Amino acid sequence: MLRVTVLGSGSRGNAILIEGAETCVLVDAGFGVRTLAKRLHAIGKHPSQISALVLTHEHTDHASGAAQACRKWGWPLFASRGTLSALAESTAGCPLGATLLALDRSTKTAGFDIRATVVPHDARECTALVLEDERSGERVGIALDLGHVPSALPDAFRRLDFLIVESNHDERLLADGPYPWSLKQRISGALGHLSNGAAAAFVSACAHRGLRGIMLAHLSETNNTPAHALSRTRDALRRSGWRRDALWAAHQTRACGPQGTSSLNTSAPVQLLLGF
Ligand SMILES: [Zn+2]
Ligand SMILES: [Zn+2]
Repeated sequence: MLRVTVLGSGSRGNAILIEGAETCVLVDAGFGVRTLAKRLHAIGKHPSQISALVLTHEHTDHASGAAQACRKWGWPLFASRGTLSALAESTAGCPLGATLLALDRSTKTAGFDIRATVVPHDARECTALVLEDERSGERVGIALDLGHVPSALPDAFRRLDFLIVESNHDERLLADGPYPWSLKQRISGALGHLSNGAAAAFVSACAHRGLRGIMLAHLSETNNTPAHALSRTRDALRRSGWRRDALWAAHQTRACGPQGTSSLNTSAPVQLLLGF
């Protein structure tokens, strides 16, 4: 069974471990190599067990550890053309032998079939990803850092077994919060981050009988709380008729995964009593 573990998610770093039938793939490396190794160790994994690193985009909270991790552990890197060119221009540089993640077809690596869809965000070419385990056919969709849901995404995210989606900010907490006006505009803008309301609408559009679990991710520590994010999506799911007790919010500072679908030894993710 496909297993999903969020090693950490938020503006201070993102990394998600996907374990297929035979191999592991890491999506994003927004932590330094010491933290990555520590969080992998906490769930009984070693960096040498990672078969590939896939980046959603070049922002530091997703890619700061990528170049060093690829050099240190020999991970092959996959990313969109824009992300690779942005990395090449950065001080850390782009690892040698990085592979272009095609947008018009799937890319096969390490037993996974990966499809990337460009999403609107203030990065060079940010992508949402669907990873399909070639052995089991199970599919996980990951959409982190997007200002709004582009028209192609609901179709790309059909028939998922597991969904991880950004639920960055509560609209009211952001508006009333301490950030300067320009930063509030950037976050809530079309190239910023997904609000709880937008995430809830997208999640309920993706919900279907075969969807086993949903993890809300990249929650702002200033402009959101797990309770705000979870209750908004829970209400939307209730209206859509999805009745599983399998909605969680990821932590920033420790590895977590939904019970039954993640590695051993993870922290419990945040979950409300859903009361369906
Ligand atoms: Zn970003
Ligand atoms: Zn981010």
